[in-house]
Amino acid sequence: MSDCIFCKIIAGDIPAIKIHEDEQCIAFLDIHPVNPGHTLIVPKEHHANFLETPKELVAVIMALGQKLSPAILKAVGSDSFNFSTNNGRAAGQLIAHTHFHLIPRFPADGHKMWHGSDEHQDFAAMATKIREAVGSGE
Ligand code: 5GP
Ligand code: ZN
Repeated sequence: MSDCIFCKIIAGDIPAIKIHEDEQCIAFLDIHPVNPGHTLIVPKEHHANFLETPKELVAVIMALGQKLSPAILKAVGSDSFNFSTNNGRAAGQLIAHTHFHLIPRFPADGHKMWHGSDEHQDFAAMATKIREAVGSGE
């Protein structure tokens, strides 16, 4: 896609600090790292987000995350990491080209993920709604 920053990185039109490249994916350091070693794992094929990515390619991305994470952790001296994707604007997705963040974590690095709520919710009704949506293929 011509106006996609990650497609430009893949094409070599924009520089990036690559740590891995193969036929289907590249992995490069995030330009604004949350922690040292923050890596983006990106399929070369342009898909707007996780949900739009073919499941075979998702499996390839997952496998690459599993392969690269021990090396990244070793390089930065960590034994923990988050591996996740932001899907949609409200979830913080800024680049509309599927990517997974591999973020090494350190004790007390201050990056709280999110806070759970103690507020009562109707879990049974919520579960019914979701099961119905799964059943209808939505
Ligand atoms: P998102 O918010 O879409 O999940 O994550 C996009 C990530 O891409 C951000 O963490 C941001 O720092 C990173 N990023 C944006 N533009 C560039 C770039 O040109 N080069 C690199 N290496 N990372 C980028
Ligand atoms: Zn793209």
